[in-house]
Amino acid sequence: MLPPIASNFVAGETPEAALAHVEGLNDRGVAGILNLLGEHYEERPPADEDADAYVDLVGSIADRDVDACVSVKSSQIGLDVGDSVFRENLARIVAAANEGAEGDGTFVWIDMEDHETTDVTLDAFERHARETGGNVGVCVQANLKRTRGDLERLAALPGKVRLVKGAYDEPADISYKKKARVDESYRDCLAYMFEAFDDGVAVGSHDPAMIEHAAELHAEHGTPYEVQMLTGVRESAQFDLAADGVTVYQYIPYGSKWFSYFYRRVRERKSNALFALRAVVGR
Ligand code: FAD
Repeated sequence: MLPPIASNFVAGETPEAALAHVEGLNDRGVAGILNLLGEHYEERPPADEDADAYVDLVGSIADRDVDACVSVKSSQIGLDVGDSVFRENLARIVAAANEGAEGDGTFVWIDMEDHETTDVTLDAFERHARETGGNVGVCVQANLKRTRGDLERLAALPGKVRLVKGAYDEPADISYKKKARVDESYRDCLAYMFEAFDDGVAVGSHDPAMIEHAAELHAEHGTPYEVQMLTGVRESAQFDLAADGVTVYQYIPYGSKWFSYFYRRVRERKSNALFALRAVVGR
């Protein structure tokens, strides 16, 4: 069972719990991006099982008519087993998400993992972006030196792109290591996206400076945009932005494999660790 301290960052262990969380957010003007926790499967059966779970989930999203989409990790649906396993499972999820929908299926995001997965992920995105007319999105990372160039390729495609700073410790020759340099790259990439993207820009960041920069670029170019933040992180800012008319999505992890995700959230920030400690000691 999910302990109360973990439920700040994880919506629950079941799709029902995650969908109930989405309904609560929708009532407050925030949409959901559902992510079933799990990654780096080295055998095919768990990768297929998680892909099946996503197929069921996109069906439940359509049935319950909630404002939500999904986000999948390539290594969760088979990339470490083989490129073709990843491609097959992603194709199944995208097909289910668009089944019976007349141009308005459930949107499917593809998270970005470490640099060795970038090409295969962008290629899979391109295929489904063309096939669905843009009902898929992909994440790119400002800490990678290649990303500014990748954005030029992505600008020519339908679909959405989420810009994040990057969560992986990448080699120094292909990535920016200093926080200030990553922030500079994030600003440059955002500026390019607001100029060159028609289908909108997704700002995947909790950083007030980047969110303000996006609002300024939106005022200058008129390009639609959305802000995406994680469950349990700056939630009051999420609701404030939504109340101000900004499109806000909360990225909502759920599932039984919650421990390592919760542990990462606690480690990355002192305030989260204090929060967890207070919950444990009951004050
Ligand atoms: P940081 O640069 O970490 O912090 C900047 C400022 O933001 C801080 O000074 C503070 O003011 C505020 N802030 C940040 N965190 C907190 C907090 N916990 N509580 C309060 N304030 C805070 N990475 C990938 O590599 N691949 C992905 O597919 C991916 N998907 C993501 C999807 C979403 C929706 C989000 C939000 C992030 C995703 N990430 C992904 C993670 C991302 O790469 C960063 O590691 C992570 O978001 C931290 O960077 P940041 O821009 O939020 O803020």
